[in-house]
Amino acid sequence: IVKYENICKSFGDLEVLKGIDLDIMPGEKVALIGPSGSGKTTIIRMLMTLEEPTSGNIIVNGKNLWKMNKNDHLVRANDKHLRQIRGDIGMVFQHFNLFPHMTILENCTTALIHVKKMEKKEAEERSMKMLEKVGLGDKFDAYPSQLSGGQKQRVAMARALVMRPQVMLFDEVTSALDPELVGEVLEVIRDIAKDGEMAMILVTHEMDFAQEIADRVVFLDNGVIAEEGTPEEVLEKSNNERLQSFLHRFR
Ligand code: ATP
Repeated sequence: IVKYENICKSFGDLEVLKGIDLDIMPGEKVALIGPSGSGKTTIIRMLMTLEEPTSGNIIVNGKNLWKMNKNDHLVRANDKHLRQIRGDIGMVFQHFNLFPHMTILENCTTALIHVKKMEKKEAEERSMKMLEKVGLGDKFDAYPSQLSGGQKQRVAMARALVMRPQVMLFDEVTSALDPELVGEVLEVIRDIAKDGEMAMILVTHEMDFAQEIADRVVFLDNGVIAEEGTPEEVLEKSNNERLQSFLHRFR
């Protein structure tokens, strides 16, 4: 469903990604791990077209996000095309990024109404169901500032999920939370993962959690995929020294 082909990315002189090939199947859960600065966030931001690759292709459902023009420059696909591709992808960020002036319910319905052109009533019904699913049905008319970090992150998930994306991206969604709030957010992800059909890419430092829910773990190091395989192969049986020392820091 998502395919990265020989993706390179530099910021000025800093070569962050040096040829990434990654193919994600429908419904597959992939955990992306690696040292700070190894380019994990950059990989998923490129999929949201928040960042453009220096070279290479990213293909979503057979559609290319970027095209090479006559002058060998990458250009983004046209807006209509992009909207379509983006509609298949949902993202949850480290810092929630909720709209502060909207209620919890409005945060969930706004894209359904304005992007998907759904009737308000239907958008509200779908959103209420999702808020109940993440355990926040009673908070629908609160504002983000009235919620805890864990609750905000659960709203952010509900907001992404109501769009029914085929791929969900989670970028270190628990790292800004107080330790006692991490569990409730992981529980929601666990729940979503169980539903099965949606592909997920999770950037995470929660190794036990990665082990539990991922079909595949990808270890990014020095701009390349240094190791990938099942959680068991990567997190338990690998002899890669850099991976070993990385894992030591998190376990
Ligand atoms: P972390 O685990 O710390 O979040 P990461 O693996 O997600 O790290 P990225 O955020 O993808 O790493 O960043 C990779 C490298 O690219 C870092 O060295 C970062 O400083 C650099 N970088 C990221 N975005 C930009 C930018 N817009 N301009 C310049 N450098 C950037």
